[in-house]
Amino acid sequence: VIHDIQHQLSPLHDRIELTSDTYSHAILAGIPADILQQILLNVVGNAIKYSPSGECIHIAVDQTSQDVYIHVTDAGIGIPAEELPYIFDRFYRVDKSRSREYGGTGLGLAITKRLAESYSGEITVQSIIDKGSTFTIRLPLETEHELISA
Ligand code: ATP
Ligand code: MG
Repeated sequence: VIHDIQHQLSPLHDRIELTSDTYSHAILAGIPADILQQILLNVVGNAIKYSPSGECIHIAVDQTSQDVYIHVTDAGIGIPAEELPYIFDRFYRVDKSRSREYGGTGLGLAITKRLAESYSGEITVQSIIDKGSTFTIRLPLETEHELISA
């Protein structure tokens, strides 16, 4: 898993620190590499975009016997608590002034959530305004995934 992540994020490597507690050779059996890549690029892309002072992004990977957890932590602008329930909605963007400043469509996290859930995983967030955010992607180590429609 670590190797896949490293490989897929290599163009961004100068902004990313990657650590792992687990040194197993587990693979995300049911999840195609391009799907994992799209999930990671959306979340890591946000972490970079919403860390305007250039802070590093920390990615930590750990796992249980059933799941892999990929934690993407930034020290960026954070998200107000009252906005957190909505950020995975399609076209939702946190406040208008911030939207103008950073650009984007508000689709990235909606797509990411849809992809993770289609492969029996999930994405969750913890964030503190002006401190930063951690997005956690859980993906099953082996899964029989549903077909994605749309
Ligand atoms: P797109 O990804 O479609 O280009 P976007 O980045 O605005 O546009 P999402 O990725 O869906 O859309 O994110 C939704 C909103 O959640 C963002 O507009 C932003 O306000 C907030 N957000 C997402 N990730 C972070 C983060 N790491 N730090 C702070 N705010 C974030
Ligand atoms: Mg985005």
